Amino acid sequence: MGRNGLRVRIIGGGTGGLCLAQGLKRDDVEVFERDRTPTGGLEGYRLSISTTGRRALEACLPDRLFHKLVANCAKPSDSVTFLDHHLNRLLALDLPHADREDPEGELPISRITLRSLLSEGLGEAIHYDKKCVAFRDDPRGAVTADFEDGSSTTGDVLVGADGASSHLRTQLIPHARRVDTGIVAVSGKLGLGDEVRRATPPPILHGPTLILGPNGCFMFGSAVDYDDATDNIGGHDREKYIMWGFSAREETLDLPAPPATTGGPDAIASVRELMDDWHPALQWLVQAADVATVTAFAVKTSVPIEPWATRKVTLLGDALHNMTPFRGIGANTALRDAATLRQALVAVARGEADLIPALAAYERDMIRYGFSAVQSSLRDMERFHATGLLARTATKTFFRAIDHVPPLKGVFLGR
Ligand SMILES: Cc1cc2nc3c(=O)[nH]c(=O)nc-3n(C[C@H](O)[C@H](O)[C@H](O)COP(=O)(O)OP(=O)(O)OC[C@H]3O[C@@H](n4cnc5c(N)ncnc54)[C@H](O)[C@@H]3O)c2cc1C
Repeated sequence: MGRNGLRVRIIGGGTGGLCLAQGLKRDDVEVFERDRTPTGGLEGYRLSISTTGRRALEACLPDRLFHKLVANCAKPSDSVTFLDHHLNRLLALDLPHADREDPEGELPISRITLRSLLSEGLGEAIHYDKKCVAFRDDPRGAVTADFEDGSSTTGDVLVGADGASSHLRTQLIPHARRVDTGIVAVSGKLGLGDEVRRATPPPILHGPTLILGPNGCFMFGSAVDYDDATDNIGGHDREKYIMWGFSAREETLDLPAPPATTGGPDAIASVRELMDDWHPALQWLVQAADVATVTAFAVKTSVPIEPWATRKVTLLGDALHNMTPFRGIGANTALRDAATLRQALVAVARGEADLIPALAAYERDMIRYGFSAVQSSLRDMERFHATGLLARTATKTFFRAIDHVPPLKGVFLGR
């Protein structure tokens, strides 16, 4: 690729878009991001990068940047625990790779740190304050994206990496749908000082903790912690905190409408009303959250679709297969897309493949594994929010049974 090669235009400088740009950066790639600044509008939550995401990052990033990213990760989790709302253990899975240098290891990273690292070295190839509003075919066979400020860009390929509310998806495949799941969620954070460390149930300090409560209520807790002895290369975000999420069916968790952005004290009060019978330490975590970090939202999911007639505009990540957060694999799937699409575009640029067949093959592949991730996230959501006594008892019995049979734990973890 190069001046006379394949001009790639990426709409959206988030997880997937920037990873793809890193993989192509010596070539003719440009990224257009709606936010005004590199970290504008970003919520600082922790992303857990799995082996899949890690391999994709390694494939796309220059070595030096990949190692810097690994060095800037938080402490890896050493377990995943399922509890009931009295903190009785249902299942505890030890994670085998609690070392971030391990090639199979988890990489827990702040979303703000990830975006700033993925932007490194891209320089003027990233344009901020560029909200894409439409695309159109260019008479010379290329494709043009138009921005809200009246400017435009033209490339040989346009990549919609513009997240769950993607403008490009709406225009490219208007029949693709994103729907409410009927679950609403509230999340909050509290700084991880000594008092919070003492008051937090220990499993949460060791890794993601999933709590099955009564009436289809579900709580998630996780710590973001750093080893003070390790260097903070580049002065990135090192905020230590506990993050929790509480979710239930919308008829159970009574949030003031509309729930999309309602946060603060009202949301905390609505959650607390459902926690009378919960362990005091969990009630405390909710009550002690920093009000400014509390957000409430309706959980949505995309509806799987079949491949469409491929054009010079394609999609990656949440722009197509956005999913519920209950499996924690949205970013990992977006990174996998970036690595898969990169491979296809590199082959085209080298003259080893034609553009449309290469994009069609990428789309077929991405639709298959992307919507499979959507479905598994949805299945976990249903399992965690089951309201019927029978379904709830079956879930708890299932977790307890796995807990008592060590080889089954490996199977559960996909080992
Ligand atoms: C609380 C929470 C926790 C999560 N934890 C995990 C986890 O542990 N592991 C995991 O794998 N996933 C996790 N996810 C999911 C993950 O964050 C997303 O799936 C992932 O960021 C999707 O990446 P993306 O590149 O497709 O979209 P995004 O990262 O959302 O990037 C889209 C970008 O496009 C920009 N944009 C949007 N519209 C336009 C436009 N019109 N023009 C120009 N730019 C535009 C946006 O500003 C944004 O920068 C979590 C999500 C939440 C909410």
